[in-house]
Amino acid sequence: MDTCMQPIGKIAAILALVLVVTSPALGQIPGLLPNTSQWSGESGASGHPLMTSDAIRASAANFDQCIAGLWPPAARRGVTKAAYDAATAGLTPDLKIMDFMDSQPEFTKSFWDYLDTLVSDARIAGGRAMLAQHRATFDAVERAYGVDRHIITAIWGVESNYGTQGGERPVLRSTATLACVGRRQAYFRDEFLTAVEIVARGDVHPDRLKGSWAGAFGPTQFMPTAFKRYAVDFDGDGRRDVVDSIADVIASTANNLKRDGWNSGQTWGYEVVVPADFNFMQADRSHQLTVREWERHGLRRAGGAPFPRHDDRGYLLAPAGVQGPGFLMLQNFRVIMKYNPAEAYALAIGHLADRLRGGEPFIQPWPRHERVLSRQERLEFQQHLARRGYDIGEPDGQFGGRTRAAVRSFQVSQGQVADGFASAALLDLLRR
Ligand code: CA
Repeated sequence: MDTCMQPIGKIAAILALVLVVTSPALGQIPGLLPNTSQWSGESGASGHPLMTSDAIRASAANFDQCIAGLWPPAARRGVTKAAYDAATAGLTPDLKIMDFMDSQPEFTKSFWDYLDTLVSDARIAGGRAMLAQHRATFDAVERAYGVDRHIITAIWGVESNYGTQGGERPVLRSTATLACVGRRQAYFRDEFLTAVEIVARGDVHPDRLKGSWAGAFGPTQFMPTAFKRYAVDFDGDGRRDVVDSIADVIASTANNLKRDGWNSGQTWGYEVVVPADFNFMQADRSHQLTVREWERHGLRRAGGAPFPRHDDRGYLLAPAGVQGPGFLMLQNFRVIMKYNPAEAYALAIGHLADRLRGGEPFIQPWPRHERVLSRQERLEFQQHLARRGYDIGEPDGQFGGRTRAAVRSFQVSQGQVADGFASAALLDLLRR
C-alpha cells in the first residue's frame, strides 16, 4: 500500500508504463497510453460505487451542471466569469480516463526490468544531448537553486522522454472529467480549478496545456497544483510556461526539488554491499541511521570507495533482498520520492542522473532468474499470510511495508534469511 495511498499525480506515468508493458495491444515502451479511444463502458476494477458503469453514465449526464457548480469556487480564486466560461466552453467528459484510472495491471515489472527500461542507453544519450544543448541555462539554474542539473535532466527524461512523450490530452478536459466523474472527485476538483487559474492568468495557453490522463503536463509533468506551488518565470517574459520555455521548465523543476528539501552538492544515495548475516528487518523506510551506524552493521559501498560523509542519515532499500544490491537512501532520495512516490521511480531517477554524469552501472547483479508474481499470485500470497495469522491488513495484491514485514516473519519461521523478498519459491512454501 506504500504508493497507492498517495495522491494520483505522477504515479500515472508509472502505471502507464506498467500497462504498456503488460498489454502488448496498447503500444511500445517507452510511451504513454493511447491518446484517443472510446470508454470501454465497463465498471472499474476498484469496485468503488462511483466507478460502476451506471454511476459513470449518471455522472457524465450531470457533467454540465457539475461544471456550472464549480464556478463559485473558481470565482473565489479570482477567476472572472468570462475567463471561466472561456475555459469551460464546449467541455465534454473524457470517459476513457475512467478505464485508465481503474485498471489493475495483472503483471508488474520487476525492479530491475523497470530500471533497465528507464535507464537505457538511448535515454542516457538523449540526456547528455540535453545537458550540452542547454548548458548555459543549467549553469544559471544551478547558481539560483543549487539543484544538480543531472537530476533535473533525469526527471525530464523519465517523465516525458525529454519532452517527446508528455501526453496529448487537454488538461482542462481531463481534470474536469476527474472532478465530476469517478472516485477521486474531491482531489481533482482542486486540480481542475487550478488548471482554470493557469489558463486565466495566461501562463500557459489552453491549446498547449496538454498532458497525461491525470492532468500532468509539460516535459517534467507538473500537476496543476504543483505548478501553482513551484513554477517560476525564469526567462523573464512574465509567464510561467513549464510547457514551451525550457528555462522555465528547468528552473521550475529545480525550484520544486529545492522547496521539497534538496541538499545541494549531495547525492541521493549509494549502492551498498550488505553482509550475508545482515538482519534485513532493518531494511525499512522507517529505520533511519547515520552512515557511520550503517558501517557498524557491516554495510560497505559497492566498488570499495569510502563514504564521503558519515553523519548523513539514510535507510536501506533492498529491492531483491539478499539476492540483489542494497541501496542506502539519503535525504535527496526522499525528495525525489515526493516528485513521484515510488521507490523504483526514484532509484531510476537517481541512477540515470549518475549515468548522465558519467557514472558506471550498478556493480552487483540482480536475481534476473526470479519471476515477478502476478497480481493474482500476490493476492494469494497475502491470503496465505493472513490465514497463518500475520497482520497484512486487507489483502489487495499490493506489497507494502506491512506485507513485507509479514514476509520476513514467515521467512524467520522457516529458518530462511528474512529479507522480505516475496519469491515464487516462497509462495510455493506457503501453499503447502
Ligand atoms: Ca517565462
